[in-house]
Parts: sequence; C-alpha cells; structure tokens
Amino acid sequence: DTQKETLGFQTEVKQLLHLMIHSLYSNKEIFLRELISNASDAVDKLRFESVANADLLSDDPNLRVRIEFDKDANTVIIDDNGVGMSREEAITNLGTIAKSGTSSFLEQLSGDQKKDSQLIGQFGVGFYSAFIVANKVTVETRRAGAEETDAVRWVSDGSGEFTIENIDKATRGTRITLHLKSDENEFADNFRLRSLVTKYSDHISIPVEMEKVVYPEMDEEGNPKPVDESKPAEYEAVNSAKALWTRPRNEVTKEEYQEFYKHISHDYQEPLKWSHNKVEGKLEYSSLLYIPSKAPHDLWNRDMQRGLKLYVQRVFIMDEAEAFLPPYMRFVKGVVDSNDLSLNVSREILQNDHAVDSMRAALTKRVLDMLTKMAKNDPEEYQKFWDEFGNVIKEGPADDMGNKEKIAGLLRFSTTKTDAAEQTVSLAEYIERMAEGQDKIYYIYAESHNTAKNSPHLEILRKKGFEVLLLSDRIDEWMMSSLQEFDGKSFQDVTKGKLDLAETDNEEEKKEKEEKAEQIKPLLDRMKDVLTEKVTGVNSTDRLTNSPACLVVGEYDMGLQMRRLLEQAGQ
Ligand code: ADP
Ligand code: MG
Repeated sequence: DTQKETLGFQTEVKQLLHLMIHSLYSNKEIFLRELISNASDAVDKLRFESVANADLLSDDPNLRVRIEFDKDANTVIIDDNGVGMSREEAITNLGTIAKSGTSSFLEQLSGDQKKDSQLIGQFGVGFYSAFIVANKVTVETRRAGAEETDAVRWVSDGSGEFTIENIDKATRGTRITLHLKSDENEFADNFRLRSLVTKYSDHISIPVEMEKVVYPEMDEEGNPKPVDESKPAEYEAVNSAKALWTRPRNEVTKEEYQEFYKHISHDYQEPLKWSHNKVEGKLEYSSLLYIPSKAPHDLWNRDMQRGLKLYVQRVFIMDEAEAFLPPYMRFVKGVVDSNDLSLNVSREILQNDHAVDSMRAALTKRVLDMLTKMAKNDPEEYQKFWDEFGNVIKEGPADDMGNKEKIAGLLRFSTTKTDAAEQTVSLAEYIERMAEGQDKIYYIYAESHNTAKNSPHLEILRKKGFEVLLLSDRIDEWMMSSLQEFDGKSFQDVTKGKLDLAETDNEEEKKEKEEKAEQIKPLLDRMKDVLTEKVTGVNSTDRLTNSPACLVVGEYDMGLQMRRLLEQAGQ
C-alpha cells in the first residue's frame, strides 16, 4: 500500500504558479539556480543536524548536488544528498507558501507583466519556478535518518493539485525530475547546463556535479570501440565549490585571497589590501572588500563599471552592484553575500531597500576604517594608495557628509613645509605642528603647484611660520567647499577676505601698523578713484612682505579658480 493521495495546492500557490509561469518567462533559466540553491540549503540543514547526530551522514558523507539530463526523455534531474523531506514535510513545503506577507504580496500584483515579475522576484520564486520550464515535476525524497522503505514521491503538473505516495529510495536526500515542456528541450543539454551552473552557482559551497563526458576509445581503424555500459558513471564538480568569503579568515591564506581578487576583478596585479568580515545580528552578511594597487584607466569616468559582486546565500546574483558603496569608493572590488535579500533582487530594488542602506553605511565605514588603519600602521603602503586613488577620495567630503571627519583624516597634502608637489601631509600632522598663535588651517588653491607655491598671498604666512596647504588638483576647490573644519580647526583660504593675522601681533607691531595705514591713506584713495570700475575696494595689508600688491576675493565670493572654470564653460 503506497497510500497514494491527491491533494490541492493552497490557493496562494495556485495564484503564484499561474503568475510566475506567465511573467517570468523571459528569465526562465533561473529555475536551475533556485533548485540548486534549495539543494544547497538542504545540505546546509543536514550539516547542521549532523552536528548533533553524526550518524546522519555516515553512509553517504560526501555532500553534493548532481545535475543529470536525458535528451531523449527531455528531462533534467537535480539530485542532492541533503536533509530530504518526510511525507508531511513534502506536503507542507511543496504545497503551501509559509512566508508571511504572502497574501498582501499577491494583492499587489497588477497584471502588468514587467511590474509583476519584479515583485515576484522580490518575493522569491523558489521551488515553483520549476514549472516555468516543466509541465510535470517529480520529487522523490527521503528524510535523513529515515528507512529506505520510508521515502515519498510527489508529482504535479503545476495546475492545481499534486499526488503523494510512499516509495522505496536507496539514498538519503531529494531527487527532482523536471519533465521539460517540449519547447524547453534546450535545457536537456550538457553544455547549457554546465554554463548555467558556472554562471549562477560557481560559489555554492558544495560541489555541483555532472557526469564526466567519456570519449570512446578508438580501434586501429579509427572507429570508436563500444563503451562499457556496465561501468558506473563518474561525476565531476562543475563549480569551484568553495565560497571563499564564507570561510573563517584564519583558514584562508594570503595567496587564496590574492587569487580570488584576480578572479573577481580581472586585474592581474596583487591587491594592496583587503578586509574580510562576517556580520551577524539584525542583518546577516559577509563581505570581502579589496583595494587594488593600481587605478584602472577609467577611474575618472563617474559612470565606470563599479560595485561589488552580489551573492545572496552564496548564490550569485549580479556583478557591479553599485548600491553597496558610494561613488567615491568606486575603486573598491569585492563580494557581498547577504542572507536577508531575495534571490531575485533586482538593481531597482537594491536602490531603495532598507537592508541595503544599512549595509552600504556599514561597508563604507569598513573601507574608511581599512584605509585609516593602513595610514596608521603602514604609511608607506598608504602613500601608494593615496598616489593612485587620492583624487577619488577627495570627492568624499562632498559625497558623504556623514563621514566628513573620517575622510578628512585620510587626506594628504602638499604644503609650504614640504614644498614638494607630492601630497604627503595629513591634517593631523599639520595641526600638530601649528605655530604659536595659529588657530586655522590655511590653504591656497591655484591651477598649478608652482603657481600655488609662489603666490604672493603666502608671504606673510611664511614669515609668521604658518604652514599652508598647497592645492592644485582640479577637484580641490570642490573638496574645500565642503570642508569647513577638521578637529575643531576651521579652514581659511589665504586669498579670501581678511586674514585676521593681526590678532597674533603684539602691541608694538599694532601701533606701527596704524601709523603706516595713516600715511598710506591718500594713496589708497587715489587708487580707488582710478580703479573704481574694476575693484570694490583698495586696502592696505600686512599679508605681503615682498610684493607691492595683490588681488583678493571677498570672503563669500567664489574662488578665483572656480571663477575661471565657469568662465571657460561660458558662464
Ligand atoms: P525557500 O527556499 O525560500 O524556503 P522554496 O520554494 O525554494 O522556498 O522551497 C520551499 C521549501 O521546500 C524549502 O524551504 C524546503 O523546506 C523544501 N525543499 C525544497 N527543495 C528541497 C530539497 N532539495 N531538499 C529538501 N527540502 C527542500
Ligand atoms: Mg529556495
């Protein structure tokens, strides 16, 4: 007695099946990813149960998924030796949707194919995606720990009901046979299946195996000898079967990290640094972030391909997921593997997902911390980083207000102290050696390092022993417009407004200046008359020591360079 019975799907399943078959038609190959993902989950569950009960594994310890196909029968089989299902479990898991929010999800579906397929993707298509390509699905399964005679067969054509009966099954786990629709026979193909496994499931942590292709031996006349049919089939892993980022850090070698970097970045050089982390708690994800040693050629194109490789539960979802890092970190390569997102998450969904927002904030901090640590512990290495990517980091203060102080700490400058074009001085260093009486961070911006360095505006500051940051990269003025202060010290453009250096003078100096100002007043008035069309004022100054005069922009006016840029742009 097999106790065969016919049962109806839960109403929600019927609705979902119907919608899925119609709206996911253009992306039907995902069924394989879903079924391999389930097989991998089943193996994970068994692995978990076997911690408490090692016997569960003993007769069949090599955990794996196998993909088989039969061109003549037009079938594809996904066979795993995972945890399997009991009769009750099969009825519940493959006949109902346990997820909360199912009915509200179904209510949102509009009949608009594009919108619906996105929603379904967000919800997760799972096991039922088998019916996108199959007109009949057979599931034979035996629960780990159950007897050989205690297995079940579940069969359905996906239209509304399924049958379930007891069978014998020699091995533990689940074997799913997809009877492909006649126009889906492209999937009963060795090459097609292998490439889908590589595309979607390469980093599934267990081997995804397919039968080895055996080439017949040739006889002396070059004709194939008959193949020995009695030999058992041999299987080989099609995927690389190790999700490197899921392994504990102390078990991954430096070489393995480097090799993996090359694999995901298509860069042939070694990475400069990496950071591998696993986050648990409200959100669960792993990340492995790399800083390349050389900037790519298209770094200056804000539209360059950037972002992380996204996995959900070790299943590959997409390349270049930009949503996980801000644009000024576009040089970072790596992987993020989330346990909270749906396998069918799309770029659109990523753009406005709360989980993704928190992950981006955390990953951004992770990169900033990695850089801060590098700067502290390995300044030489950090200098290499700065020389390659410093100008991208300079977009940071404007891009990422929340991390301004941290980013400012990472900046490196050329200054009047180093007098070299190379940017090596940090703001912390600058502040540490500030002269007596100095309470501002002075900077000058010019179109070249030499112009900046030789500017008459610097004369008085040099005389007073005040260090000045020499800025001449195009991005610098933009950067300074979003930096107001660092470590409580405000920034001061030495070409703008009054410098207020007088406060640092002593009584004698003050008196002397007042007398001089009195003497020079008639001259200033004459100059004002002559230049009336061209300037708003002519003042005496103590900022010059060698040059007779210089031009100054008002405190709240645009910088000279910005002005020049706008003029060039015809504004
Ligand atoms: P999800 O994977 O999100 O739970 P699915 O629709 O993919 O949803 O699968 C439904 C359930 O069916 C799974 O949660 C699992 O309990 C069961 N299941 C599916 N495939 C297998 C399998 N190969 N082995 C054991 N159980 C499975
Ligand atoms: Mg699933």
